[in-house]
Formats: sequence, C-alpha cells, structure tokens
Amino acid sequence: MEKKPFLAESKRLLDMMINSIYTQKEIFLRELISNSSDAIDKIYYKALTDDTLTFDPDRYCIEVKPDKEARTLTISDTGIGMTREELETNLGTIAKSGSLAFKQENESKDGRDIIGQFGVGFYASFMVADKVTVVSRALGEEQAWRWESEGADGYTLEPADRDGIGTEITLHIKPDTEDDSYDDYLNEYRLKALVKKYSDFIRYPIKMELSSS
Ligand code: ADP
Ligand code: MG
Repeated sequence: MEKKPFLAESKRLLDMMINSIYTQKEIFLRELISNSSDAIDKIYYKALTDDTLTFDPDRYCIEVKPDKEARTLTISDTGIGMTREELETNLGTIAKSGSLAFKQENESKDGRDIIGQFGVGFYASFMVADKVTVVSRALGEEQAWRWESEGADGYTLEPADRDGIGTEITLHIKPDTEDDSYDDYLNEYRLKALVKKYSDFIRYPIKMELSSS
C-alpha cells in the first residue's frame, strides 16, 4: 500500500509530539474526546435542519475502551464521521486552531509551551501511541475508510468495514521505558480519573467498556 507523506508543517508538529518530553502527555485524551464531541455536535446540528435525519440522543455517545493485552486504547464515537477526503485533509495536515497558533509561536517556543498554551488536537495521540489507526464512516456514505500512521513517515488509507456512522480511533500505546510509563492509559481507573479531570463538561455520555482481561 502506498504511504503518503505528511505536509512539512504537519511533520514538524508530529515530530514534536512523537519526541515530546511534555509531562502532561495525558491531555491526548481530552483532545480526542473533544473531537468526538465536536463530531456529535455536527450531526446534531445537521439533524435540526435536515428532515430526513433524526437525532436520537440515546444513540450518541463516546466510548473509551482500554485493552491491556493488545496494549491499545480505543476512543469511538457516533458522530458525523469523515469521508476519505476528510481523513486526508483533516488528519494529514494540521487543522485550524492548533496550526495557526503553532505557526505563530513555534520559532521561539519549545514543545512544552506550545502544548501548554494551545490545544494541539489529534496529533497529541502520538505522545502516547507509536501507531494510530482511525476507522471512520461519514454520514451519507456506505464505505468506511481506515487511516493509519506510525508517525513521521506518513500514513496509509484503505477501504474498511464499519456498520454505523462515526469514528473509531485506536491508539497502539507505546511500550514502557525506564523513564516513561504509559500503563496509566490502559488502566480503567486512571482513565476514568482523566475523563473526570479534563472532560467533565462534555455533554454527551462517555462510556467505558471494560476489557475482559
Ligand atoms: P481541531 O479540533 O482544532 O479542528 P484536531 O487536530 O483536533 O483539530 O482535529 C482535526 C480535524 O479532524 C477536526 O477539525 C475534524 O474535522 C477532524 N476530526 C478529528 N477527530 C474526529 C472525529 N472523531 N470525528 C470526526 N472528525 C474528526
Ligand atoms: Mg480538536
């Protein structure tokens, strides 16, 4: 499969995330949950103006699922999803808010300051994951797509299967090193505490599916 490169400025932010020594790596979860919440907002507002769509509040939620054995953490939502093109443009390049701030501040600041001051969005995943897999199916589409990246050397895109509209992001959590432990991000209690700390204001239910192991 063809690997597509990230654009230069995205790559710089990405490199910074991958090599981050930032102590609050945990904010990646806040970024992903807020993206999920935004995606549910988008489908909610669409339903308000589109008679063919109904918004059933019970169907709209965000799920956080750690799997210790597989060493993965999956965040999924029933939001508006992304088309193939949106996966490319939204995840292959730095999006709006984070990027602008990054461009303006980047020369004079180290990673710590940038992360502290602005949301860095989706790329924050790479602070805790060495591979990120996104499977998404957009509203109005039959076909789902899988976007996958191990960071620096680009990403791949291929057709995938997914039953409902929405997005599932799987983080392949980094192995522990002498200096850094990532086990917290596979631990149900720690994750619950992080959701409480950073995402308490999110207006959709956040569910934790417990792994069997
Ligand atoms: P921002 O949220 O500031 O736009 P991000 O890097 O967090 O920047 O996300 C980039 C873009 O990717 C979002 O604007 C959105 O279009 C898309 N995106 C990210 N996560 C999701 C998701 N779970 N569902 C739908 N779209 C998403
Ligand atoms: Mg975001």
